[in-house]
Amino acid sequence: MEIHVQELPPIGTNAITLIDTAQKSAWVIDAPQRAYSWVSDLASKHDCTIEGLILTHGHWDHIIDAHAFATAGIPIYGHADDRPLLDAPSRMASYAVPGLDLNPVTVTHWLEDGQSLEILGSPMEVRHVPGHCPGNILIYAPALEAAFVGDVIFAGSVGRYDLPGGDFSLLERSIQSQVYTLPETTTLYPGHGPTTSVAAEKAGNPFVRPN
Ligand SMILES: [Zn+2]
Repeated sequence: MEIHVQELPPIGTNAITLIDTAQKSAWVIDAPQRAYSWVSDLASKHDCTIEGLILTHGHWDHIIDAHAFATAGIPIYGHADDRPLLDAPSRMASYAVPGLDLNPVTVTHWLEDGQSLEILGSPMEVRHVPGHCPGNILIYAPALEAAFVGDVIFAGSVGRYDLPGGDFSLLERSIQSQVYTLPETTTLYPGHGPTTSVAAEKAGNPFVRPN
């Protein structure tokens, strides 16, 4: 399985594609602007089918292209605690770049903390990590030694907790109990910026220290 990361507009949000060229299948994590055309190009280049889109959370910059996946009949996964944002992304309009079309997102599969998924034949675990927003989830892929974390933690930083639904003490608890408990060698793929690792953030993240 290959992991492709692409930073996309309008504010530099990472879309991630997991692709297995032998199985001819691909999965997508998050849908910033132009994500669908990026993934479609990648998938058709490898003759792969897009099997699903997982939204790490409901913030506008991660879901703006989700309607294109829905139109293509691709199943969409997310956490119900962000349903108000997914049903009415215009709630976030005052935090978004002006002039964007913010379409509602119909999630076809609601994910819960502790749920197991099988993606491209590989077991993955859903962990609920609220604090940046109520419904942020991370997807832990043990076989890849990787976790796709949305905006809960970044290299040397953490997600904003001053937006509606944000809460620092909850964010801190999520990171300590759900991120820092992953194996130290786990690579973290955040929703913005470069990858990092559990070891690096436990050693040096200035915002949340291991407890
Ligand atoms: Zn966010």
